[in-house]
Amino acid sequence: MHAGRISSIRTHIVHCPIPEHLRVRSGAGLKLARQSAFVEITTDEGLTGIGPCSFGSASLDLAAAASLLDHAIAPMLIGEDAGAITYLWDKVYYGSVTRVLGPRGIGVALLSGVDIALWDIKGKAAGLPIYELLGGVVHDPVRAYASSIYWLPPEEAAKVASDYVAQGFGAVKMKSGLNYRNDIESLEAIREAVGPTVDIMVDANQCYSRHLALKVGRELDKYDVLFFEEPLPTDDVDGHAFLAERIDTRIATGENMYTRWEFLPFIQKQAIHVIQGDASRTGGITEAKRIFELAAAHHLYVAPHTFSDVLTVASSLHLNASSPNATLLELDRTYNPLMTDLVKNPLNVHDGVVELPATPGLGVEIDWDFVEAHPYHGEHGIGAGARPAFGLAHETLPDRQVETLA
Ligand code: MG
Repeated sequence: MHAGRISSIRTHIVHCPIPEHLRVRSGAGLKLARQSAFVEITTDEGLTGIGPCSFGSASLDLAAAASLLDHAIAPMLIGEDAGAITYLWDKVYYGSVTRVLGPRGIGVALLSGVDIALWDIKGKAAGLPIYELLGGVVHDPVRAYASSIYWLPPEEAAKVASDYVAQGFGAVKMKSGLNYRNDIESLEAIREAVGPTVDIMVDANQCYSRHLALKVGRELDKYDVLFFEEPLPTDDVDGHAFLAERIDTRIATGENMYTRWEFLPFIQKQAIHVIQGDASRTGGITEAKRIFELAAAHHLYVAPHTFSDVLTVASSLHLNASSPNATLLELDRTYNPLMTDLVKNPLNVHDGVVELPATPGLGVEIDWDFVEAHPYHGEHGIGAGARPAFGLAHETLPDRQVETLA
């Protein structure tokens, strides 16, 4: 059947506070709540599509973001053919994002939600899962890694890592940036606890200067770390190249990068080995697929960031399933009801893999009772001021003690 013409667009926001004893800390701050924003598009053929937009680890007025979508972007789309995804992507990108909303941030995240909702509709119209429309299955099931081991004393970090391995994960990620000694001792304890065959990744959430990243990176080389994530601010392309030249551990980045044009200079300067573009942020499934192909053309792997909700995981799942160079998917294992309760049919996760949904479209169905029961009233998702500005994370690091982040 035809997708039909777009008849309505509405953005929904869900807010789930994190119980105090389950809150996690990293270089991105202290998480206070899990929040989800997603776009609902309906067509005059009676089809409905859902698409997540995610906004990174920073406080944001999600109602203002939703208002932008519902009042500035939606009017550009009402009445259009819902099946013309590439055309509509360009219409929003060149008509609004590059002119006023900004090509590096919220405008692209909003476009991502629209794009994924349109793919959901296209899949439902075709009676096929999205991965079938993207070229069919390469990876089934999709391998996932446990995200993450947050800032903790070494023995506690090792315990969390062991728990993830006991759940069946063959790959785990730890957060660095607390302080140098604790980070390296945690890494050592984790490697000791999980043994030599489990993949370990380290994520710095952009908190280092070039030389501190190099100092940490040289330590990572000793523990066979799979990749070093966001070692530097995303605008320091040359810094990533500097690091890539000097350490053996792969450089990964991209969760806070938007569109193929932000990834391109990293690829051209050989500053990146693992691309982490997140479909719900970097421009939707349409743009993420382009970025995955760009990576493949340069023999690079992708391991998408998905740390927000089940809709985001599902979006990347279709991309990973259909992309030869996408060998790993992030999976949030911290307290997050949005990974399960937001939908009536949560993804089947077991033994460190995620099964592919067989139903048409995105393959997950919103539980509207849950959405209604978890309203958003302007609450912050992350502690304001928790993350020191870049440059404050210096070598002695007294500013990065946990106590200062409460
Ligand atoms: Mg990260």
